Amino acid sequence: MSRPNSQRNQLKQGILEVQSYYRATQNKEITFPTLNSEKTADICVIGGGYTGLSTALYLAKKGISVILLEANNIASGASGVNGGQSSGGMRKDQMYLEKRLGKEQALALWKIGEQAKHHTKSLIDEYNIECDYKKGIAHPNHKQKYCEDAKLYVEHLNRVYNYTEIEYLDKNKMFDLCGSDGYFGGSFNKGDAHLHPLNYALGIASAAISEGAIIYENSRVIEYKVGDTGAKVSTKDGTVTSDRVILACNGYLEGLEKRLTAKILPMNNYIVATEILSDEVVSRINPKDIAFADSRFVINYFRLSSDNRLLFGGGENYSNNLSNNILHIVTKPMKIIYPFLSNLNIDYAWGGKLAITLNRLPVFREFENGKLLSAQGYSGQGVSLASFSGKIIADKITNTSDMFDTMSRIPITGFPGGRFLRSPSMKIGMAYYALLDRL
Ligand SMILES: Cc1cc2nc3c(=O)[nH]c(=O)nc-3n(C[C@H](O)[C@H](O)[C@H](O)COP(=O)(O)OP(=O)(O)OC[C@H]3O[C@@H](n4cnc5c(N)ncnc54)[C@H](O)[C@@H]3O)c2cc1C
Repeated sequence: MSRPNSQRNQLKQGILEVQSYYRATQNKEITFPTLNSEKTADICVIGGGYTGLSTALYLAKKGISVILLEANNIASGASGVNGGQSSGGMRKDQMYLEKRLGKEQALALWKIGEQAKHHTKSLIDEYNIECDYKKGIAHPNHKQKYCEDAKLYVEHLNRVYNYTEIEYLDKNKMFDLCGSDGYFGGSFNKGDAHLHPLNYALGIASAAISEGAIIYENSRVIEYKVGDTGAKVSTKDGTVTSDRVILACNGYLEGLEKRLTAKILPMNNYIVATEILSDEVVSRINPKDIAFADSRFVINYFRLSSDNRLLFGGGENYSNNLSNNILHIVTKPMKIIYPFLSNLNIDYAWGGKLAITLNRLPVFREFENGKLLSAQGYSGQGVSLASFSGKIIADKITNTSDMFDTMSRIPITGFPGGRFLRSPSMKIGMAYYALLDRL
């Protein structure tokens, strides 16, 4: 696929929209004005992805006045471009959490992760969000030696967490699900789901405005001042005076809040959409229409779109701009998993920035006596959790649950190298683990 020059320029800006399959199939067009005057609200939310939109929704639902400022367009960040996999738990598994944080905190985080997953479905139902929600995610192992651990983990979830929607599948059963002989078995979680991420985000935006939230697009926050008496948030052409500020910028935060910059690292990740597959190929590679996320350190994730394209994600880097070479980055692993699909046309290729933390657990923090709250660093597992964060934040503000405090107790250390050197030092570490994937 050749790319017109204008689209190449968009790749360089770090957000690629026109080539996203999701953008091409969005089911509603909603636009918002630019902030160009002085406004007041109880709360000002910065960032219009799942975190910011759901925060605006839940605050407005509670009768709190809220203004959301988005630098570009709603869901132009990770929330509009991601793999659409809605999983429970955290990005790190329960065994890791038990070992590092203790059983009590691990259980508390499991419950929040499960609530987040169920919340996605209930939000979709409550606001009639059309986003192709479908159940099932499998985790195939690309190495035989991972299978024993996967079996033990399934048993652990069944027994200790009483979670019975997950089962272990042997090589043959996994082959029946995914049609690739590159896997040795793995787990299948019937409780997880996948969806059209952009339509989900636009649905949350519509829900938020229906509850009374006010949204401005193309309104990049350039600075904010937060003190005991309140906050002032400034864009190029306007200001919002509010009691509190919520930071929901995730991989696009960078220098806006320096106390968080070294704790999260923006990372680019990429997806392609193939041409529409024949019925024969569909029944060979995904007869149950589920999603897959494999065991590689640089995860390959794939599923079908509602019009039967293969949506295949994988490959990452740390540069400020998205790669100009998405096709190569993503189709290389795709051809390893599905060599018989090597000749398919790729109709769409896109990417976006997520935010990872060193231990891959999210960072929820409050500053200035709770006048500034922040949630980010979902580390690639934010479809459910980020869209539940709004409820967690709104409950914190109204003192109606302690979920924010549970999340903020997760210890997060900064990246080695601090704010400026974290990216090169991570690059070296990630290259090492990516090499292990191939050995
Ligand atoms: C390619 C890709 C695939 C992924 N796949 C999955 C998946 O399958 N499952 C999963 O669970 N997670 C996945 N993720 C992660 C998931 O998408 C994110 O965790 C989630 O979308 C984070 O939502 P958010 O609202 O916190 O951040 P974002 O959606 O990134 O929103 C942040 C917003 O803040 C805005 N912003 C930044 N700075 C400013 C400013 N100064 N002023 C105003 N606005 C500002 C940005 O423009 C952006 O719109 C993936 C991410 C990517 C990039």
